[in-house]
Amino acid sequence: MIPFLNLQALNQRFEGEFQAAIGHVLSRGWYIHGEECQAFEYEFAAYCGVKHAVGVGNGLDALVLILRALLETGRLQPGDEVLVPGNTFIASALAVSACGLRIRLVEPELSRFNLDPQAVEAAIDERTRAILAVHLYGRLADMPALADIARRHDLLLLEDAAQAHGARLDARRAGAWGVAAGFSLFPGKPLGALGDGGVVTTNDAELAEAICSLRNYGSTVKYQHDRKGGNSRLDELQAAFLRIKLRHLDADNQARHDIAMRYSHGLDRRMLDLPELSAEGEVHAWHLYVARSEHRDALQQHLLKAGVQTLIHYPTPIHRQAAYSELGGLSLPITERLSEQVLSLPIYPGLSAQQVDHVIDACNDFAAIESNFSAQEH
Ligand SMILES: *Cc1c(COP(=O)(O)O)cnc(C)c1O
Repeated sequence: MIPFLNLQALNQRFEGEFQAAIGHVLSRGWYIHGEECQAFEYEFAAYCGVKHAVGVGNGLDALVLILRALLETGRLQPGDEVLVPGNTFIASALAVSACGLRIRLVEPELSRFNLDPQAVEAAIDERTRAILAVHLYGRLADMPALADIARRHDLLLLEDAAQAHGARLDARRAGAWGVAAGFSLFPGKPLGALGDGGVVTTNDAELAEAICSLRNYGSTVKYQHDRKGGNSRLDELQAAFLRIKLRHLDADNQARHDIAMRYSHGLDRRMLDLPELSAEGEVHAWHLYVARSEHRDALQQHLLKAGVQTLIHYPTPIHRQAAYSELGGLSLPITERLSEQVLSLPIYPGLSAQQVDHVIDACNDFAAIESNFSAQEH
């Protein structure tokens, strides 16, 4: 069986370094907001090419804290509208809802999975104050176009970079395009801890200061509370593990890129629409390799029988979730079509060329059987 993701093997590569890191943290006896967190923040900010990084408890909190800080500093008002892609993971929307802001779901481009700039422009009304661009599956959204729209309409451009650590266009990485960006450090993400974690990046000193305070009871000086903050912190052990893995992030992204290339050259396109490869000067983080098929469910069953585990990101769009019944009347045909057609194939460092070829063969067998079948029908 080829598992969709093998986190055990992925992390086992660093066992020696992880053990040494545990030793350092144990010997210091300091577990929250110490040297490791500070060093991780410094190193991650430098990696992304921004001035500030703030470690937090998870990716959802990273987004919530950005929005809360924008509310605290008066740059957003309760009830302001935020544009969010319809086909993202629900956390992007939940962050907006949690802060008392309005969500406006916007269609993606079918071939790129990311926000369609034309649909964004058409969705802007007098209440719109921000765009939350999601770099879905590891590919940067069309940030030059979205930045231009944000500038012309005086909107805040924010990034949900939870799937795109290390993605870049020319020299500019995910996390360095918007007013602020939220990253998840959940184990399965391109940069993943051995537990929960998240980080915010920004060039804005006022926002960074507000988030540092909000993540820690509204306090930056012990027992002095300037804001009604919460508790969302990145602990020393996770920060230490993340510093080790950050050094291997570019190599891991390259390994996923190589697998994506192998898929894209080997897969039979008769039954599958393959994901667009990155443009000149662009680095895709390939968190997920997502193909589309009109026979998606049959293909998934076929692959399972052939020993290949796949997943669907995501089977039910936000406006079709019970949690968002108030959006149930919306019609988002591209988002809905994607939820019926997308299939994510295994892609991770350590997946061997033979395993990738096995996945390709299993997909191509399906294509051969299906095209034979459709030929007979006519
Ligand atoms: C994973 C993810 C999040 C949330 O991250 P957590 O660490 O699980 O809270 C937010 N947005 C997107 C697009 C994600 O993939």
